[in-house]
Parts: sequence; structure tokens; C-alpha cells
Amino acid sequence: MAQLDTRQKLEILADAAKYDASCASSGTAKRDSAGKAKGIGSTEGMGICHAYAPDGRCISLLKILLTNSCIFDCHYCINRKSSNVRRARFTAKEVVDLTLAFYRRNYIEGLFLSSGIIRSSDYTMEQLVEVARSLREDHQFRGYIHLKTIPDADPRLIEAAGRHADRLSINVELPTDPGLARLAPEKSASGIRAAMGGMKAAIEDGHDAKKRYRSAPAFAPAGQSTQMIVGADAANDSDIVRTAATLYDRYALRRVYYSAFSPIPDASAVLPLSRPPLMREHRLYQSDWLMRFYGYKPAEVAAATDDAGMLPLDIDPKLAWALKYRDAFPLDVNRAPREALLRVPGLGVKAVDAILVSRKWRRLSLADVGRLTVSIAKIRPFIVASDWRPTALIDRLDLKPRIKREQLELFAA
Ligand code: SF4
Repeated sequence: MAQLDTRQKLEILADAAKYDASCASSGTAKRDSAGKAKGIGSTEGMGICHAYAPDGRCISLLKILLTNSCIFDCHYCINRKSSNVRRARFTAKEVVDLTLAFYRRNYIEGLFLSSGIIRSSDYTMEQLVEVARSLREDHQFRGYIHLKTIPDADPRLIEAAGRHADRLSINVELPTDPGLARLAPEKSASGIRAAMGGMKAAIEDGHDAKKRYRSAPAFAPAGQSTQMIVGADAANDSDIVRTAATLYDRYALRRVYYSAFSPIPDASAVLPLSRPPLMREHRLYQSDWLMRFYGYKPAEVAAATDDAGMLPLDIDPKLAWALKYRDAFPLDVNRAPREALLRVPGLGVKAVDAILVSRKWRRLSLADVGRLTVSIAKIRPFIVASDWRPTALIDRLDLKPRIKREQLELFAA
């Protein structure tokens, strides 16, 4: 490996880390002030991503790989052994120094650290743990640390990682076991699940200990998460939703992140030539929200898919479900229970809670509900209010194009 200075390594290893979605981006518009004489306020710091802390705060993280060299050859990965990319590697001390330097300058509030497999899973995990240990113990670092763990590393190393990190994650990589066997032959689906199970148990033990003894050390207090690549194999949205629901259920994950497969240079012939539409990733995130915050069962989200098991790209999954199950509507906003109102397309959790508070004092009209939402056009066919009853609207065959057209007109106004 050629001798590189820290800045060159940072360029390579921050760029390589961008394929990992599991430290979620805040979606800020990118403004790069580099090279412009008077540019200030860039949101494009090299290697800096934005993520949400467990308390909902948006925080900036230094997001890097320890190395982009890897002894594995996962087909979908730019860092795989057979890939022809520039390689770089930080020492644990370099990552620690970089993190502290960024932190002291107030550029970041934490670190997201992942890595290719260097020599063995254990060796790699030891290096990741050393970074977190040194930050916490040698430098009393109080910032946020998210470590990507290596599933088949020694459980004692994962345990050590949990003592220092706020969040741990293990990527399931692909939605189905056959997909993983085909595209990441050196990885084992059962090994990944066993590691997630072990981590769940360790997190629960940590919580129990903390309840009993106030001085007990925290273990990964922000829980565990995972990432699934979408569109690299033949899994449809129904498969993905079912896998995500099982993961939430079985391993008490805080988040499943979806990452639309992106074609990479020198891609293997077993991969699709183009990336799936980004909207597919967005629809999967919406379906994830339906399950986590709106009370939908995985089978109900799957029922919103088409014959090929795909969520529609032109409308959101909640509207797709409502159009298929019209007999569940219209719902009276002045009487319907919370769980039913959460199914009304266009009504979010905040709007539903506001309706429940307001209707204690008075009967709500269509205009009252309209003030709580972005698009009254979307809601109108599905609700009854004190001055509104949609009678024939809900049965119209052209309801979907009507809602879409009215929404477009609304946004054009
Ligand atoms: S183990 Fe990770 S870094 Fe290595 S090739 Fe597979 S996905 Fe890429």
C-alpha cells in the first residue's frame, strides 16, 4: 500500500464509508464551499454525516472506515477483494486522533466507524474496539460512538464493543438467505442472526444490570441496528418488509436501514446493471414507519403491494392500502378510535393526536382537519367530519388519479 498522509486516507476512507446507510443521513441539501473565495457554512465536510441520536437530536458524525481493504469478496461491495480501488488504512490511533481533532473543533459530535475485514474477523474487531476503548478510557470522550461489528468475531470482542459504543450494528446485507449465499458467499446468514441474537441478549442484560445497580456500566445504550441492500437480488418489497418485521421482532432492533443498491465500477456479472429507483428505498422507509408507528402488521403492508410484490412508486404505501381496503373508510374524525384514524391517508401521528385533543371540546369540521394536514385532497374521501360526508367519493374507480391530480394542483398553487 503506498504511503498516504492522513488527509489522503481520509479522502479514501470517508468516500468508501458513504455506501453504509446505517448512520442515517438527515437529508440536508448539500452546499460545498470548497474553492469559493467567500463560501462559508458548507454542509459538506469530508466524512461528516448527520444522524439522529436516540433522543431525536440531529448529530454530526465523523463517518469513516478503518480500512477499505477486505479479504472477502462480496459481489455488491466496492471494497471487495477483487475490486480495483485505491486502498488505505488508518491505525486505531489515527482514528482516535482524527476524531478528537474534529470533536475539539466542534465539527462532529461523534464517530461512525466501520471496516473491511483486514486479516481475520477477530483482528478487525479488535482494532475497532481499540478505537472506542481509547476514546473512552484514554481521552474520556463523551461523544456518540456507533461501531459496525463483524458478525463472526469472538463474542467477547462484541461485548467489549458494547461497553464503549452507544450503538452497535451488524448488516444483514440482503433480504433473503439465498440472496446472501449468492452475492456474499463468505458470509453466513445463520452467523449474522446468531450475532444479532447475542447482541440483543447482551443489551437486555445491560439494561437489567443498570436497573439493579446504578453503577453498572452501560451496554450499547442506543441499541442495535442493521442495513439491508435493496435491488441487488431478486427479493421483492413483500420479502423485504417481512424480513424487516422479523428482525425488529426477534432482535429488538432500533432501526432497519435500506440502501438502494448502486452499481459499482468493475461490477460482478451477477449484479443488475442499474440501480433501483431511489423512490423504492423511500417507499420501504415509509412502510417501515407504518409498522413501527402506525400499527400496521407486516402482512397488511405486503397487502398494499402489487401482483409482483412491489409497493407502488407513484403513491405512498398507506394510500395504496387504503385504496385497496376502502370498506374500512370513511372514518368519522369525531368518533373513530386513534388506531383507526392513523390509517387515514394524509393523517400523521401528530395530526391524529391533535384531533383527539380538539374533539374533546368541539366537533371538528373538514376545515379544522385541513388545518392539521398538508393535503386535504388526500384525506377528503376517507373521512367524515361535522360538515362533510364523502358519500360516493370512496367508491369511485378513478379515486387514485383524482387524489393524485388534486394533490398536484394543490402543490402548483
Ligand atoms: S465483508 Fe464488508 S467490506 Fe468486505 S467485501 Fe463484504 S461487504 Fe465489503
